[in-house]
Amino acid sequence: MADTIFGKIIRRDIPADIVYEDEDVLAFRDLNPQAPVHVLFVPKRAIASLDEAQPGDAELLGKLLLAAAAYAREQGLAKDGYRTVINCNEHGGQTVFHLHVHLLAGRRMHWPPG
Ligand code: AMP
Repeated sequence: MADTIFGKIIRRDIPADIVYEDEDVLAFRDLNPQAPVHVLFVPKRAIASLDEAQPGDAELLGKLLLAAAAYAREQGLAKDGYRTVINCNEHGGQTVFHLHVHLLAGRRMHWPPG
C-alpha cells in the first residue's frame, strides 16, 4: 500500500506526540483533537483500511483494540468511559489510509455521531 503520514511517524521521519509503543502498535496524540483526550492507535504493519483487513490480520486488530483499552485504563479514563472509532473510506470519514483506532475521552460523547 502507499505510504502515508502515519508511516512517516512510525519511521520517525516526522515528529508526533507519542504516548505508547510496543512491538506492533504506536499511539500518538491527534493533531486536531476532537475531545480532551484524542489518541490514535496505529499498527506498525500498515493496513489501508478496515475494508482491506484480512483474516490473517485478526491478531493485529485485536492488539490494536487491547492497546487502546489498556491505555484508557492506565490513564484513568475507563471508569467515566470513552469512545473508540475506526473510520472506513469516504462515507466513514477516513482521511489517512493507514488503519487506525481513535480513542476519544474526557467528555461525554453523543449518539448518533455526526
Ligand atoms: P481519519 O479521518 O479517521 O482517517 O483520521 C485521521 C486523523 O489523523 C485525523 O483526526 C487527523 O487530525 C489526524 N492527523 C493527521 N495528520 C496527523 C499528524 N501528523 N499527527 C497526528 N495526527 C494527525
